[in-house]
Amino acid sequence: MIEEQDYLAKQNLHKLSDIGEFGWIDFLKQNQGNLHDFVKEGIGDDAAVLTFPESSKVVWSSDMLVEGIHFDLSYTPLKYLGYKSIAVNVSDICAMYSTPIAVLVSIAVSNRFSIEALNELYQGINLACEEYKISLIGGDTTSSRAGLMISISIIGYNDTNDIVKRSGASVNDLVCVTGDLGAAYAGLQLLQREKKVFEENPTVQPDLSSFEYVVGRQLRPTAKLGLINILKEKGLIPSAMIDISDGLGSELHHLCKANNFGAKIFSDRLPIDFQTKSVAELFYTDVEQYAIYGGEDYELLFTVNPKYFEEIKSIEEISIIGYTVNEELGIVIETKEGDEIEIKNSGWDSFI
Ligand code: ADP
Ligand code: MG
Repeated sequence: MIEEQDYLAKQNLHKLSDIGEFGWIDFLKQNQGNLHDFVKEGIGDDAAVLTFPESSKVVWSSDMLVEGIHFDLSYTPLKYLGYKSIAVNVSDICAMYSTPIAVLVSIAVSNRFSIEALNELYQGINLACEEYKISLIGGDTTSSRAGLMISISIIGYNDTNDIVKRSGASVNDLVCVTGDLGAAYAGLQLLQREKKVFEENPTVQPDLSSFEYVVGRQLRPTAKLGLINILKEKGLIPSAMIDISDGLGSELHHLCKANNFGAKIFSDRLPIDFQTKSVAELFYTDVEQYAIYGGEDYELLFTVNPKYFEEIKSIEEISIIGYTVNEELGIVIETKEGDEIEIKNSGWDSFI
């Protein structure tokens, strides 16, 4: 205990016990931001209170981030981590074709964590809450002896009865993805390499300036709420949808399993950024492996009735990458040479 106090005091930093329980709740209240219309009570009472329009459905999910498993503090700025922890939760609500409203954020922190560090974390949380127009309405705070843990519960709603599930698609539907694939994994490769270099020689300064996009995709992914709103405005309701957290291959398997069908994907249709290609070259890897098996892109994978082909094609951020097929045909990718290769059911964790 004394050791930790010394450690923080030496750097002129403050620990949670310096501000006490009331100080901490005041700090959290300052971070609450604007309350969503549905929120009647936010931080400060025993529980938050919300009201929903009568006809709406409540959509509720949670996602947890654990130090050493989901993030590495040696190269992850806390502000980005705060942002990412909210974005990955919003992404799950988006994947249900629904609108996020509020989050409960529970954290377990070691005594070595200063108030100043927590402030950075909450700056990122705030930024994401503002961006996605959601409220921080409460949470819990406890100490940890095994690193930082962030557990978030997100609540959203859907009042038009058009929730999109993983199931609901038909054979011959178009298979679509938003944005581009493999970038977050490319960013991770670079960050892990730089960490190794730094550990071997701390005087070497990393230069990632030509890879800002992919590093940003790893450290600060965004949820595709804007695109959900575009689809809603156009009245385009996907037949099935999932967000890409573990990689296209893994999510395709989830979708196909939920619908009892297969899928045929075309490798030349996979949206891949040029920086992702450069990183794959640097690591002597086929960039399609990044796009299929690299995780954490938080793009959306969805199927849609082919009658929407022209409309979907006209949306710049969406790529049609293939179509659904009968189950017996499996889940395959057609290469540029015309060969068919099975897409395996593995995500980023087993790929590494
Ligand atoms: P209780 O003892 O009833 O669990 P707490 O002292 O844990 O109450 O929390 C007081 C208030 O602060 C509650 O409104 C709670 O939701 C909120 N809160 C506690 N920790 C966090 C956190 N890490 N992030 C956001 N809100 C929090
Ligand atoms: Mg509590």
